[in-house]
Amino acid sequence: MKTQQENNTNILNEVYDADAFRDAGHRLVDFLADQLDGMKAGTNEQTLPWADPDNVLSEVDGWAASENGDLFENVFQRCIRLHDPRYMGHQLMPPAPVTALAGMLTDFMNNGMGVYEMGPAGSAMEHWLIQRIAAKFGFGPDAGGFMTHGGTLANLTGMLAARAMHCPDAWQTGEPSNLAVMVSSQAHYCMDRAARVMGWGEGGVIQVPCNDRYRMNVDLLKESLAEATAAGKQVIAVCGTACTTSTGSIDDLQAIGQFCQRHNLWFHVDGAHGGAIAFSEKYRHLLDGIEMADSIAMDFHKMLLTPSIASAMIFKNSEDAYRNFAQDADYLLRAADENEDPWHDVARRTFECTKTMLSLKVFSVVTTHGWEAFDQAVTRLIDQAATFADVVKASDDFELAIDPQANMLCFRYVGGDGDLSEANAAIRKLLIEAGEFYIVQTSLNGETWLRTTITNPMTTSLHFSLLLDRIRELAAGLPASRQA
Ligand SMILES: *Cc1c(COP(=O)(O)O)cnc(C)c1O
Repeated sequence: MKTQQENNTNILNEVYDADAFRDAGHRLVDFLADQLDGMKAGTNEQTLPWADPDNVLSEVDGWAASENGDLFENVFQRCIRLHDPRYMGHQLMPPAPVTALAGMLTDFMNNGMGVYEMGPAGSAMEHWLIQRIAAKFGFGPDAGGFMTHGGTLANLTGMLAARAMHCPDAWQTGEPSNLAVMVSSQAHYCMDRAARVMGWGEGGVIQVPCNDRYRMNVDLLKESLAEATAAGKQVIAVCGTACTTSTGSIDDLQAIGQFCQRHNLWFHVDGAHGGAIAFSEKYRHLLDGIEMADSIAMDFHKMLLTPSIASAMIFKNSEDAYRNFAQDADYLLRAADENEDPWHDVARRTFECTKTMLSLKVFSVVTTHGWEAFDQAVTRLIDQAATFADVVKASDDFELAIDPQANMLCFRYVGGDGDLSEANAAIRKLLIEAGEFYIVQTSLNGETWLRTTITNPMTTSLHFSLLLDRIRELAAGLPASRQA
């Protein structure tokens, strides 16, 4: 780094210096491997080294100063650590270390993938993965899809496909603004965004109420559709959520699929989080009915050992993917005429133009550890959430929101006699500032609950008990009015 000042004319030589890269790379890998050992062994002090945002901002300048040591190590000190088994917060999981190496190759090679020539390996790996994953969902040989940057974008693409099917002229002529999609009242906010982005406005998302397990009340689908139609809406799709972000509840996909078939509606599944459950032999039955879907959005970075951001958009009929962005309506016909095989031209189907080689990280897990690694990860995380539920149920001073279906679990401290929402919000604040555990919170029926996602396969019942103990300690220290 010093030579940067000393030798201004040669900065670009320095930028591409192979030896410096080799040295820094080896140092970083050794450092991270040591940290991984420490987190697994329980010698890591904090999961979240909490500091005020302004304090961290004031430190930033010093991180790269040569007298302060290694830049990457300094940054690490202020990162939240997903590999610590006391991390039980948002849905991201500690990635398999091999994916970090895959990430290094991905970034180093910088293959843009918009066209095949800019990423031959990436295009092929992506196709290879998509075909196999589609089969996991019970789709046949006509299925297809692509990888994309996040579940949010994938869900929007699913809605575009629904529109392309029901209003094939919309891409050219604009569209009727009375289109709508039905979702559960617990659907992810990105569905609402997708509808608004597409110009369907506030009424473009019709919320079907949930039952007491936060799953769509499918008995109300017919009524909701009739009401919407009477109000002048053209409902073109139903989105089943598998699973919801707050409580991990999985909609009855079978019932939604049958409803869609009866009423000729596009069936989209927001499987951003729970699509991964298809890999678990033990739990895949929770997704029964997903094989009826027309499109499925899924993330690899929630339960499948992969760093963010890596998602897939899978279509039962791969042709549906081509219709989405067909600037020329004759495209499909021409493709057939010319006998093209367009699987490798990814940009024709994706929102993105330049696209990272998203496939290598996923591919590296599958080829290094086997598909079995996905099965074990998903099964383990859901098993552990059930274990946590048992621990909560066995504690009189805690209450469970609902029995978890997936790896999210919501609970709260009920050991005192003040306002429950206030007390639990205060507990969470103290907890993250202390930094040993990381959990989040959510609102259910207007009340604040502590929310966890069990994303670390190394989290055990010992950590659950320690967490409850820590919460009891913090609750005891709250001012009397705040004690639940
Ligand atoms: C996480 C999530 C999303 C958003 O996915 P991103 O990959 O963060 O864009 C959408 N829906 C559900 C149900 C999710 O859990």
